[in-house]
Amino acid sequence: MADAVELGPHLGDLVDHHCHGILTTDLDRAAFEGLMNEAVRASPLGTTLFDSTLGWAIRRHCAPVLGLEPLVPADDYLARRAELGGREASRRLMAAARIGTLLVDTGLGPGELTSMAELADLAGGTAREIVRLERLAEEVLAGGGDFAADVEARLRAARGAGAVGAKSIAAYRVGLELPATKPSVDELDRALEGVDAARLVDPTVSGWLAHTAVEIGLPLQFHVGYGDSDLDLLDCDPLRLTAFLRATQDRGVPVLLLHNWPYHRQAAYLAQVFDHVFMDLGLTTHNTGALSTGVLRETLELVPFGKLLFSSDAYGLAELYLLGALLFRRSLSTVLGELVTEGEATREDAAYVAGLVARENARRVYAL
Ligand SMILES: [Zn+2]
Repeated sequence: MADAVELGPHLGDLVDHHCHGILTTDLDRAAFEGLMNEAVRASPLGTTLFDSTLGWAIRRHCAPVLGLEPLVPADDYLARRAELGGREASRRLMAAARIGTLLVDTGLGPGELTSMAELADLAGGTAREIVRLERLAEEVLAGGGDFAADVEARLRAARGAGAVGAKSIAAYRVGLELPATKPSVDELDRALEGVDAARLVDPTVSGWLAHTAVEIGLPLQFHVGYGDSDLDLLDCDPLRLTAFLRATQDRGVPVLLLHNWPYHRQAAYLAQVFDHVFMDLGLTTHNTGALSTGVLRETLELVPFGKLLFSSDAYGLAELYLLGALLFRRSLSTVLGELVTEGEATREDAAYVAGLVARENARRVYAL
């Protein structure tokens, strides 16, 4: 039995290296379903998102945290959530996730989303910032001035103020085929002449931003693989980053591939062949629910154990923090436990790897 290996103590305190704010307001069913995943509509053509591995996982694992039996109907779950109130329900779910450190992508919101401080308070942990490059660039562009110098100055200032990394959403804007060499300031200025300042969509600008973050020495996260219908998934295969990765590996600045599904095997390969590449299964884990063990197993085929990090990629709902953490702990325990039971590794090996993936890899990558 996998649980005979007892990895629980090694998976207690997690570093969540990619996550977002949540809403602590009261949510009706339509609002709740609207935040469950990145589908455009909460009830696509008369279906419900509760009829999915994610919906089952919420009923199975979140219901008991709110004092209900596992697998109560969705309406009962939402009625109990409303009875407790969004803030109290969120507090219980976040506390149950047992995440000690949150690296928060502050590029979404703020709007009604919790601030970093509120999120840390709800989780009972600490929070550090990850700066979203495109948002910072759009703010600089709106302010006029010297774009290149101002972006660099603001990135250095953010690091000085405690930010531990940067994030690129090039996948959403231009796909992942970024240039191997950093565009010159002339090329950048020419590209900026034609862009919509409210939404930067230009491969030269995206490439310049990514190279700049690496030059400054900020660990650089890339959205990879699936998200919402804004992106073209075909252009989000991380293998498209190969030229960029080859060009940046000698700098020794970590590059982190986020989410990755359905390209988690490609990401694992890149993490193996490039010194500075790391990966996670955030978003993927809670979206695949009870079947997330299969995705983790496929990832562990190739990824070096020092290159895999935990993230929830939770956004909007505290439920997604709990499920990201719980399903991660469970699937890692299951897969490592099987290998120990089959005599392929020692208990000590499994405990060591659990600690690496749960927190030590993130601490090393981000110098926490
Ligand atoms: Zn995210």
